[in-house]
Amino acid sequence: MDAEVGVIGVGTIGSMVCWQLADRGVSVLGFEQFAPGHDRGAAGGESRIFRTAYLEGSAYVPVLQEAERLWRVLEARSARHLLELNGGLMIAPADTALTRNVLECTERYGLDATVFDAKQAADRWPQHQFDQDDVVVLDRHAGFLRPELAVATAAAAAEEAGARIVRHCRVEALEPDAGGVAIRAGGTQHRVSRVVVTTGPWTSKLFAGALSIEPRRLVMSWFIARDAALFSPSRFPIFIRERHGIHVSGIPTVDNVGVKVSLNDAYGTVADPDLLECRVSPEDMARVSTIVTDWLHGLWPEPCRISVYQDGYTPDGHAILGSLPQFPNILFAAGFSGHGFKMSPAIGRAIADLLTRGETELPINHLAIDRDALDPNLGERS
Ligand SMILES: Cc1cc2nc3c(=O)[nH]c(=O)nc-3n(C[C@H](O)[C@H](O)[C@H](O)COP(=O)(O)OP(=O)(O)OC[C@H]3O[C@@H](n4cnc5c(N)ncnc54)[C@H](O)[C@@H]3O)c2cc1C
Repeated sequence: MDAEVGVIGVGTIGSMVCWQLADRGVSVLGFEQFAPGHDRGAAGGESRIFRTAYLEGSAYVPVLQEAERLWRVLEARSARHLLELNGGLMIAPADTALTRNVLECTERYGLDATVFDAKQAADRWPQHQFDQDDVVVLDRHAGFLRPELAVATAAAAAEEAGARIVRHCRVEALEPDAGGVAIRAGGTQHRVSRVVVTTGPWTSKLFAGALSIEPRRLVMSWFIARDAALFSPSRFPIFIRERHGIHVSGIPTVDNVGVKVSLNDAYGTVADPDLLECRVSPEDMARVSTIVTDWLHGLWPEPCRISVYQDGYTPDGHAILGSLPQFPNILFAAGFSGHGFKMSPAIGRAIADLLTRGETELPINHLAIDRDALDPNLGERS
C-alpha cells in the first residue's frame, strides 16, 4: 500500500481532508492536477463569504460553528489571517425563503444577530438602497475568507503532519477491488485502502454517469468605490440580497478599494470543466453594472476586474457526502453547489471522523449521498 487514504483533488475540500486526516496520524496521499491554491476551479477570486445564519437551512448551523472553530485553529497553527468576521447583512422581503430560513437559524440556535427594518438599516448602512419591505438581519458571525491562501495553508498543514501531495498530476482512473483502490495517475499506479474523491466541478468527468454533479459557471466583478472608506470591512459588512427574484452577494475587496459583487447561479452550465469559458459577454457585464447602480450607492458602475470560476452543483443545491454501494472504498464529497467554501474545514473533519471512527457527531445527514428528498428550488448560494 502506498497510503491508507488517497485524496483525489486537493482543492477546497480535499486540502481540508488531507489536513484533518494527517493530523490524526493517518497516512495520506493526495493528488492535485494543478497545485493547491490555484484559481481554475471553485476556490479562486480572493474572497469567499462566511456566514452562520444560513439561508440554505438551519441544519448547517452546527457545521458552520465547527467550521469557524477550525478556521481559527488553522490560523493559529499557520500564523495566517484567513477569516475576517466583519459581519453580514442578509437582505430580503419578509415573505421570502431567505428571510424565513435566516430567522429560523437565529431563533433556533440563539445566534448573535440583530434584525433591522429598512429605515433603521438605511441609517446604519447608507451604501445600500433598501426597499420599504426589506428585512435586514445582521449576522455577527459572518464575514469573508481568503480562499487561495486557505487552501494552500491547509495543504501545507497536511504536509507538515506527514501527508504526501502530488502536484500537477491528474488522476486518470480509480480501480476499486476487494482489497482497496488502485489509482492511475501520471503514468503510474498507486494503491491505497480507501479513497476520498474531492474533485469539485470535475467530479462527473472522472465518474461519468455515476453521480449527478453539474459544473456551473460563476462570474465575479470588482467595483471601485467613490469613497473607499465607506466600503472598508469595518463599515461595510458582506451582504446577501434577494430583490425581485435576483440573488446577489457582495464582499469588501481585499485591497479595501471597493466591493466584489456576484450574481449567483446566473451564468449557465459548463460542458467541460477543462474548457471553462472565461470571456464575459457585454450583456452579462451590463447586468451587473445595472445592479450595482440600482442596489448600492457610491460605486463606479464599470467593473475594474471580472473573473470566471466554476463549481459543481447537485440537483437540490446540497453537497453529497458518502459512498455508493458499488464503490464501498470510495467516499465522495462533492457538489457543494456554490456555498461550500465556508464549511470546508468542518467537512474535512467529518470525513476524517468517518474514515477513522466510522461515525461523526457533526449533523451531516442532509448531505447523505443516498437521500431521496431532492429540492431543486433552493434559492441563493454563496
Ligand atoms: C465564484 C464563486 C463564488 C463562491 N462564493 C462562495 C462564498 O462566498 N462562500 C462559500 O462558502 N462558498 C462559495 N462558493 C462555493 C465554494 O467555493 C465551493 O463550493 C467550494 O470551493 C468547492 O470545493 P471543491 O473542493 O468541491 O472544489 P475545488 O475547490 O474546485 O477543488 C477540486 C479540486 O480537484 C482537482 N481535481 C479535479 N479533478 C482532478 C483529477 N482528476 N486529478 C487531480 N486533481 C483533480 C481540481 O484541480 C481542484 O483543485 C463559491 C464558488 C464560486 C465558483
